[in-house]
Amino acid sequence: MSSNLDPEAADGGFTFVTLGMGDAFSALHYSASLLCERSGFRLLVDCPHPIRKILREATAGSVDIADIGAIALTHLHPDHASGIELFGYYLLYVLQRRIPLLMHAAVLEQARQPPLLLDRYFDLFSADDDRALAAGPFEVRFRRTRHMVPTGALRIAAGGRTLGNSSDTPFDPALISWLETADVVLHECGSSQVHTPPSQLQTLPAPLRERLWLFHVEDGLDLAGSGLRALVQGQRYRV
Ligand SMILES: [Zn+2]
Ligand SMILES: [Zn+2]
Repeated sequence: MSSNLDPEAADGGFTFVTLGMGDAFSALHYSASLLCERSGFRLLVDCPHPIRKILREATAGSVDIADIGAIALTHLHPDHASGIELFGYYLLYVLQRRIPLLMHAAVLEQARQPPLLLDRYFDLFSADDDRALAAGPFEVRFRRTRHMVPTGALRIAAGGRTLGNSSDTPFDPALISWLETADVVLHECGSSQVHTPPSQLQTLPAPLRERLWLFHVEDGLDLAGSGLRALVQGQRYRV
């Protein structure tokens, strides 16, 4: 994976912009969220607040809610979904249209319940583990992680390339086996019990670590000398 490439300049694959790479309590970064792009279609991955400001800052003002074709939501914790309701209101009152919202089947029931009532604004699509959902040129698969609330890790494929995204999880070799079939793997990283410490990610085989980038990273976590690297907020990467 390389960075700073024109999304239209290379054949195959797709690009993503790191909208945020912080964890839930970060004072330094926006919460973990991505903007995947291929052939002019934009897939937002997670939707923290304030999503319009986050999009504007990461794209120098070139992308707003109107430019998003679909959203994939990993779970309903606020660092991943605190912007989804306002995104929905913006669709309803300003744009007067709906877009697809994709999630794991285990997340769907909560998403439909008050106070979110997300089917008021979005066309909801959900699937069980490893079943494919389509959004424009993207094929999206979820797999449950071990987390406090129903949560889906992601594999996002387009143009013959795949991006893996752990969402929130403790270190879980079975999940990593599922993610590592992707060409590029993003993994969360934090020191608390519910997250994955860098020391465990350092044990992964070198060929996987070369395709691994950390995000959803705790403030102050020192990765120097660890052989691990973190995504940079606002940077575009090619898958
Ligand atoms: Zn989180
Ligand atoms: Zn969470």
